[in-house]
Parts: sequence; structure tokens; C-alpha cells
Amino acid sequence: MTYRVVWFKRDLRVWDHAPLAEGARLGPVLCLYVLEPALWRQPDAARQHLGFVQESLKDLQAELKHLGGRLQLAVGDAVEVLERLHRQAPFLELLSHEETGNAASFERDLRVKQWCAAKALPWREFRQFGVVRGLRERQHWVRQWEQLMHAEPAPVPELQAADVPRFADLWPSADELGLAAPEPPQRQRGGRARGVAVLQSFLNERSASYRGGISSPLSAPTACSRLSPYLTWGCLSLREVVQATRSRLDDPMLPARQRQGLEGFMSRLHWHCHFIQKLETEPAIEHHNMHPGYQGLREHDHNPAHLQALMDGRTGWPLVDACVAMLRETGWINFRMRAMLVSVAAYPLWLHWRPVGEWLARQFIDYEPGIHWSQLQMQSGTTGINTTRVYNPIKQAQDHDPHGHFVRRWLPAMQRVPDTWLFQPWLMPPELQARCGVVVGGDIAVPLVDLESATRAAKERVYTLRTDPAVAAVQGAIVKRHGSRNRSAENLSKPRNVEAPAQATLDF
Ligand SMILES: Cc1cc2nc3c(=O)[nH]c(=O)nc-3n(C[C@H](O)[C@H](O)[C@H](O)COP(=O)(O)OP(=O)(O)OC[C@H]3O[C@@H](n4cnc5c(N)ncnc54)[C@H](O)[C@@H]3O)c2cc1C
Repeated sequence: MTYRVVWFKRDLRVWDHAPLAEGARLGPVLCLYVLEPALWRQPDAARQHLGFVQESLKDLQAELKHLGGRLQLAVGDAVEVLERLHRQAPFLELLSHEETGNAASFERDLRVKQWCAAKALPWREFRQFGVVRGLRERQHWVRQWEQLMHAEPAPVPELQAADVPRFADLWPSADELGLAAPEPPQRQRGGRARGVAVLQSFLNERSASYRGGISSPLSAPTACSRLSPYLTWGCLSLREVVQATRSRLDDPMLPARQRQGLEGFMSRLHWHCHFIQKLETEPAIEHHNMHPGYQGLREHDHNPAHLQALMDGRTGWPLVDACVAMLRETGWINFRMRAMLVSVAAYPLWLHWRPVGEWLARQFIDYEPGIHWSQLQMQSGTTGINTTRVYNPIKQAQDHDPHGHFVRRWLPAMQRVPDTWLFQPWLMPPELQARCGVVVGGDIAVPLVDLESATRAAKERVYTLRTDPAVAAVQGAIVKRHGSRNRSAENLSKPRNVEAPAQATLDF
């Protein structure tokens, strides 16, 4: 029989799934998901990601069945699986979404492309984000983002399942894949049904707290949309989220707080693709500094004790350690706290962003390589084009957790620390420690370095490099390749006249 293969990767849904719609329009399809052990053995993969994918595959299986199709699960290298499938029952075409993943998935895609070419088999890839393959510079990028988000979603098709023998591959356990670290017990669960429920609760209620609520780690878990893992693993399409948000904003009765919240949220949906575009344009930024002049800045000073203390949540700065504890329990933390974690790692602890990023990738349920590595570099000051932002963990605590509710929730020993010493418990006199029943250096860690002097020294090193004329000379080319020509948040909320030229203000 003639049929097409629709290859599901990080797009685990039937809704607005262009490859599925196209395959089904042309005839019978085989819906394939390949669990690729080599990808799961990469240092950025985690047990929680596998759990989320498995939950999402369950929903996908049920949805495909409902449409008359079925999901073929396979285990192995993608080329080996395709070869096995083709030998067993040759197919006409391979259809999938484009993926901007890590180096291992990039290399896998190249091998799949070679395999298809050798078989004279077309592989059609469809865009699912506002990311443009082969883009050289950012002029008109916003316009194409808008065109994609404005277009009709791909229809959910009736399916004719390809009548080919089933594989009976054994699904490996997380242990067999070497995913040792335990899952955060309170992580978000996968699947389209959950994603839709989270979207609805945000659009209808929680968005009222978005503006003003997203910075503090206390309010952020409910004020933020919490859609990130559903976008990362594709349970929701970005376009459906954009269109649902705009349709909510079209309601003239929408309360002002919700309107403000949704406008701010819309600009984040734009950033999503803006950051992924950086990795798509320059895959090397997963491993190398975006600005080549920063090569060698931190590479040679790696301090394993600092990295270990950070990963153990024992830096001594309560807000930092509380964030690590929350991540371990939930797999999620808000943007400001992520930026603070990286800033503390990069400046006072002087750690290179790569090992920090690998560890954080495993901590985040929503790990999205394009956003992740771009942000790691931005917060570590190695892009050469962004203003250096250094987050002081003591000031962040004073601003966003002034009464210590957050640190006391996640670091139980902090409950015994009086308010006066909340932000710098290591300064508590020994008699007071004894009276309160808390041991600084035991129950609570002592900071590894003096925050002020270590941060000052780090900033000076970055500043010296940044102002070096040879380094500064390269900036223009990086801005051209990666800088955003952005629109204001309010403008992004409205569908844009796609013919109008993009504004040319640089702000990332
Ligand atoms: C060091 C660092 C690493 C990060 N790694 C990731 C990652 O691996 N995956 C990920 O999805 N986000 C990452 N972010 C961005 C951001 O922190 C998360 O997207 C956000 O916290 C997810 O929660 P939310 O969906 O409730 O966000 P909301 O504020 O509700 O935003 C909605 C969506 O917009 C996008 N978005 C929001 N903020 C940003 C941003 N600053 N840059 C790009 N896109 C954004 C995300 O897709 C998010 O789901 C990282 C940020 C930093 C500082």
C-alpha cells in the first residue's frame, strides 16, 4: 500500500498540526514517534522530560485513535527506524515539523536528510513557530512571524491509518536511558487536555495577576501562564495560543487588569520565537560564546566547588538556595529567578554558562534549547550585544520576598531565623544562632564568596573585555544577525497589517 509517514517530535498534538493535515489530505498515514536513546542520553535530558512526553503521548494516542488513525511508537536511532519501516513497507514521503533542537537532534536531522536523499524520498518540513530557516539577518522578521500567527490553523483531519505491520519495540525505562536524577514530585503533567485547561484558566482568570505578579517567586506560579512545557513539547500550538489570546483581547468587556496582563503575555509569545531564532541561525551558541571575542573569559577558571554548591542549593544566599529547592520540587521557576540564578553563577561565582545551563536544562520541565541557551548567554554577558544585567540576590529578596515567606517555605531552617537576619543570616551572632536553634554553616550555608567584592571583580573583567576596541568592533555583525526589530507589547496584541514594513528599533 502507498502511505506517508508523519513523524511527531516536539509537536505532540493533532490540533493545528500541518504535517498531519497534509499527509491525511493525500491518503493513508502512519503516525510515528521515535524514542531515540542517543538523544535521551545527552546531558540536557532529564527524567521529568521523559515523564512529560509519555503523558503527552497518551493523549496523542487517544486523539489519533478518535480520528481513525494510530500512533506507532518505535525505539532506536531515527534513521534505523525509518530504514526498518521502509524495508517492511516502503512509504512515499516523510512529513514533520521543523525542529530547532540541540546539536544531537540537529546532527540526527542531517542524517535523516541524507537517508531520504539516498532513497529519493521527499522529506517535507513545516514551520510551527515564527522561526525562519536559513535566515541571514533580522530585517522583516516580525512581519513573517505575524503572517504565520495570523494564518488559519491547520485543520484536524479524518485519518486513514496505513495498514502496515506494527513494531513491538520495548520502551526503555528512565534508568536504562541513564536518567538518574529523580523527577520533581510536583512538576506539571503532560498532555493536551492539561495544556488546554491551563490555557483556559489563564485567559479567563489568572491573566488578571500577570502584570505585577510575574516577578515575585511567591505570586509567579499562579500569575504566569504556566504554558511553557505545553509549548515546548507541542501539546499546544503557538499559533492557537496567540489567536486565543487575541480573541480574548477583542472582547470589549475584558477587565482592564486582564487586558494589561494579556498584552504583556503577547510580547512573551513573540520573544519565544525571537530567542529560538538565535539558535536556529547559529547552532554553535549552544556550546560557544555568541561573541567570539569572549572566548576564554570563563573557560579556564572552572570552580567545581562553586558549581556543586549551586546545584545543591548551598550558596548561602537564601533566595538562590530557595529557588533551587523549588526547582527540585516543581521543575519550574519564574523568569526573574532564572535570570538571578544564572547571574549569581556567572558573576560572583564566576562559572561558565555551559555546565550551569546543562544542569538548569535538566531542572526545567519546559527546557527549550533555543530560549535556554540564548538566555544563558544573555544573563552571563557573553552575547556582546546586551546590556550587562547583574542581579543581586540580597536585593532581589528584599524586593520580591520582603517578609521571607518564600525562603521560609522552601528552606525550613530559615523559619528559625528572626526577620532582622532574613537577608543575611550568615551575619547572625553565634549566641543568637544558639538561642534560635539554627547553625549557620550547618542548617544554613555560609556564602562561598563575599558578594560585593566578587561581583565587582567579575563586572570589571567583563567590562574590560567589552570595551576592548577589537571586541567592540564585532558587535555590529552580531546585532545584524541576532538583534530584534521589535514592536511594542500593545501593538503585538493586535493582528498586524502584514504588508506594513517592520519598525526598526533594536531592544534585545
Ligand atoms: C536562564 C534562563 C533560561 C530559560 N530557559 C527556558 C527554557 O528552557 N524554556 C522556556 O520555555 N523558557 C525559558 N526561559 C524563559 C522564561 O523564564 C520561561 O519561558 C517562563 O518562565 C515560563 O513560564 P510561563 O510559561 O508561565 O511564562 P509566561 O510569562 O506566561 O510566558 C508565556 C510564554 O512566553 C515565552 N517566554 C516567556 N518569557 C520568555 C523569555 N524571557 N524568553 C523567551 N520566551 C519567553 C515562553 O514560551 C512562555 O511559555 C528561560 C529564562 C532564563 C532567564
